[in-house]
Amino acid sequence: MASRFQDKKVIFPEKLTRSSRFKFKCHPGIACFTKCCSDINLILTPYDILRMKRRLNISSEEFLAKYTRPQTLEKIGLPVVTLKMQDDDKKSCPFVTPKGCTIYPDRPATCRYYPIGFATLKEENVTTKDEFFFFVKEDHCLGFKEDQEWTVQSWREDQEPERYDRMNRDWTEILIKKQSLGNVETSEKSLQLFFMVSYDIDRFRRFVFESPFLKQYQTPPDLVEEMRQDDEALMLFGLHWLKTTLFSIAPAKQNRSRKNG
Ligand code: SF4
Ligand code: SF4
Repeated sequence: MASRFQDKKVIFPEKLTRSSRFKFKCHPGIACFTKCCSDINLILTPYDILRMKRRLNISSEEFLAKYTRPQTLEKIGLPVVTLKMQDDDKKSCPFVTPKGCTIYPDRPATCRYYPIGFATLKEENVTTKDEFFFFVKEDHCLGFKEDQEWTVQSWREDQEPERYDRMNRDWTEILIKKQSLGNVETSEKSLQLFFMVSYDIDRFRRFVFESPFLKQYQTPPDLVEEMRQDDEALMLFGLHWLKTTLFSIAPAKQNRSRKNG
């Protein structure tokens, strides 16, 4: 089980590196087990939705309708979705049971990060980025009292957030860029495209393959074939298209290798 960033979180300002050490263990025998899986504002990323809807074997439309709530990101002005908590006393996550998370192998990125946050700082006119880690501790979390020792690196290997970071990179860059622009207005059409590509992969598939899109947007035939077969390739293509076309952010390197890199 992993926790997310709740109201009673404490963020420690100390910068950690991949070799920084800490003690932590989360397991079914701990008194706080699943306490962190209710009443949370958990923003979902494109890759979160893709993994969860695939696990549940439902369409992205159905997933969005059943499990999410729309929200506009403050200061960024872009539409996102959060995981819809249940209507019970605790406002529990729809996927939590007394035995733990029922979608654990496909749990969202935020559930994988805790208790190690990750941040990137990039100063203007400087090409390199300062990337670092930090602790996030929640009041109710007893995991820090356990004896299992980790480095930041071994924790991240265990929880696998790297793949999520990689798959969501273009999306994250759009959010960062949009935030840096301040209150620049984005057209309604652009907001709708952003939402569709980010969250509704099945509708985006129809948009790509059942409209003149591919005639207007030159795409290598092998990539078209890959996207036809594979939602992850389609999602990466869509986010890259959003970033470079809609939000005019210069591409770094071709993102097609990101799936397996
Ligand atoms: S998705 Fe799983 S780990 Fe994340 S809050 Fe829900 S039950 Fe907990
Ligand atoms: S140890 Fe922390 S992360 Fe694990 S279940 Fe308890 S509160 Fe959640």
